[in-house]
Amino acid sequence: MRSAAREFRARAREALGNASLQTALDRAGGGFADKRREAVAGLPEFERLRAQAKEIKEHTLAHLDYYLERYESQVIASGGHVHWASTAEEACRIVVDICRNAGASRITKGKSMVGEEVALNEALERAGMEVVETDLGEYIIQLAHEPPSHIIAPAVHKTRSQITELFHEHHRRLGLHGRATDVAAIVDEARTVLRHAFVSADVGITGANFLVAETGSTVLVTNEGNGDLTASLPRVHIVTAGIEKVVPTLEDLSVFLRLLGRSATGQEMSAYTTLFTGPRRAGDIEGPEAYHVLLLDHGRSTMLGNEFHDMLRCIRCGACLNHCPVYGSIGGHAYGWVYPGPMGSVLTPLMVGLGEAVDLPQACTMNGRCGEVCPMSIPLPSLLRRLRMRAFEQNLVGMRSRWGLSAWAFAARRPWLYRAAASSGSWLLRILGRRRGALRRLPLAAGWTRTRDLPVPEGPTFLTQWQRR
Ligand code: SF4
Repeated sequence: MRSAAREFRARAREALGNASLQTALDRAGGGFADKRREAVAGLPEFERLRAQAKEIKEHTLAHLDYYLERYESQVIASGGHVHWASTAEEACRIVVDICRNAGASRITKGKSMVGEEVALNEALERAGMEVVETDLGEYIIQLAHEPPSHIIAPAVHKTRSQITELFHEHHRRLGLHGRATDVAAIVDEARTVLRHAFVSADVGITGANFLVAETGSTVLVTNEGNGDLTASLPRVHIVTAGIEKVVPTLEDLSVFLRLLGRSATGQEMSAYTTLFTGPRRAGDIEGPEAYHVLLLDHGRSTMLGNEFHDMLRCIRCGACLNHCPVYGSIGGHAYGWVYPGPMGSVLTPLMVGLGEAVDLPQACTMNGRCGEVCPMSIPLPSLLRRLRMRAFEQNLVGMRSRWGLSAWAFAARRPWLYRAAASSGSWLLRILGRRRGALRRLPLAAGWTRTRDLPVPEGPTFLTQWQRR
């Protein structure tokens, strides 16, 4: 998928002015966060599990070669095949070749962020194959020719009436002429259409939430059961996963599963958690004849042990998106690539290049919520700050920001000057805003007051108050 992260500023402005997007974001906003809060409150050992998950992941990453090879040998022992891809192009070529060799013309796909990352649908369609997304959200955005706007709720930016019209436009040719307006009817209509795709597909492609080295199993967590049908009905099942998805044992897996549902949707467990281990065996009543796993690097191994290593612990739960005020205001498309919100603002520059996505780490208020709610204790604000430092060092930020930061650094290294500047700034703001108690326009920083007033400082600076105590 081509990155449009360079256009972040223009896309963010457009998103803020898009009334239907703002309605959808307002409706969605807070729902996941509230449910997560309740779910976490109901599990006293949440913090212990979080620490345990971090420890397991760090151990796995420290021995990644060992666990990946163990996973590979277990997949082969169970009759499957493992393919390694270091780039997006290589990943697409491998999957297209598997589909061609299987004589496939129709493919069903469960939600796969790796699939989005490498633009798999486009590659399969270029090869003449028909691809149908089976996750409801993914299906909606496939019809709309849009990328996902949230990693667990891909169509969260769509209002119900937009979905009604989209279905009406596309399903008329299938003989469905009515307009499904309530949620149950919309789901029912999608189910009717997708049922045919499930039974007629030659190949099913899914992502993986986890890979278990001990057993060679792929773990898929969904709420719709579409992943299970995608994996078990067609002749061939292909799993696409990043190399960081591996966990050592089934017991370790149970720790992550207890964190994932609660962090993502506030559920104790997602509705379906399925482990796939190899193709159909003699005596099995269902399952694919062939089973392939594609393991993708795509820049992940360069993060191992470097200053962004922590990001490899991400389990793609989406909690950081759900608690981010920037994401909540502009939605996911503004970020211009597969991964939006705080986790995307770290991953996108690392995967597509900082020069391509330099505005993403800047689009953060540093309120720290993302780091607080991350079940894998990923210090997202620190990682974003490191990317800002890199951008500064590589001369990727504009002259105004450079001058501003240089002036700030000059003052910050001279405490007397910093204190004098802060006190006079605070005094000046009090004078300017004394009549209204707030400033409509901030001198030299108009952006801060474009959509809201700035209350005047109430008294002396924090430092002065602290010294007086
Ligand atoms: S960074 Fe943390 S909160 Fe965000 S998606 Fe990854 S695991 Fe979830």
